[in-house]
Amino acid sequence: MEDQLIEELVLANRILFAQGVVDAFGHVSARSSADPSRFLLTWAIAPALATAADVLSFDLDGNTPDAAGRELYSERFIHAAVYRSRPDVMGVVHSHSPSIIPFTVTEAALRPIWHMSAFLESSVSVFDTQDTAGDTDLLIKTPALGAALASSLGESTVALMRGHGSVVVGRSVREAVSRAIYTEANAKLQAESERMGKVKFLTPGEAKLMNDYSRPDVRRQWDLWVRELA
Ligand code: MN
Repeated sequence: MEDQLIEELVLANRILFAQGVVDAFGHVSARSSADPSRFLLTWAIAPALATAADVLSFDLDGNTPDAAGRELYSERFIHAAVYRSRPDVMGVVHSHSPSIIPFTVTEAALRPIWHMSAFLESSVSVFDTQDTAGDTDLLIKTPALGAALASSLGESTVALMRGHGSVVVGRSVREAVSRAIYTEANAKLQAESERMGKVKFLTPGEAKLMNDYSRPDVRRQWDLWVRELA
C-alpha cells in the first residue's frame, strides 16, 4: 500500500518539474497511508530526479531515521507543520513558481480568475517571515517558522510566502499537484487580465459549486500528466 503511494509521490515530483512548477528547488510530500503521523518526502534532490529509493519517511517534527548521511531539505518543516495542523491534508507542494511571486510582494491579492482555480476562493494569505523572525534567509528552517506558516495557511488551500513562493495543499498528493499547477496558471492569467482592464473574478457562489464538483483523484489531468512523462 505504501509502495503505491511512494510511486505516486515520485510521479508527483516529475510532473511538477514537467509542468514548470518546480525547478532544481521546491518539493512535494504525501501523508503516509500506513501512519497518519508520518509523511513521505525525498532527500534534498532536484524533484525531476526522484526515484522510489530517494523517498524517506518523516515524523511531524521533521525528523527521519532514513537519511543515511543524505542531505535533507532545510524547509521540510513546512510539510511537518502543515500535516500537524491540518488532519484533512494528504499532500503538500512547496514551490517558487515564478508567476505567483508578484502576488507575494505587492498589495495585489491572488483570486480565482477561472473555474480551474476555484479553490483560491478560500482567502489566500501572504506569510512574511519578517513578521515572525525579522531578517532571515526567508527559508522555513525551524519548527517555529513552520508553525507560523501553517497558522497563516489556516483552513485555506494556498498560502503565499513573501519574496519566496507558496505552499499548496490537497486532499491527496495528486490534488496538491494539480492545485499547484493551476495556482501558477491563475497567477499568470490574473496578471495578464489586470493589464487589460477591470477583472471579474469567480463569485463565492460559483467557486463553491466548482469546489463541490471537483474530486481529489483529479483522474483526467493526472493520467495525461503521467503519459506526458514517458
Ligand atoms: Mn523554498
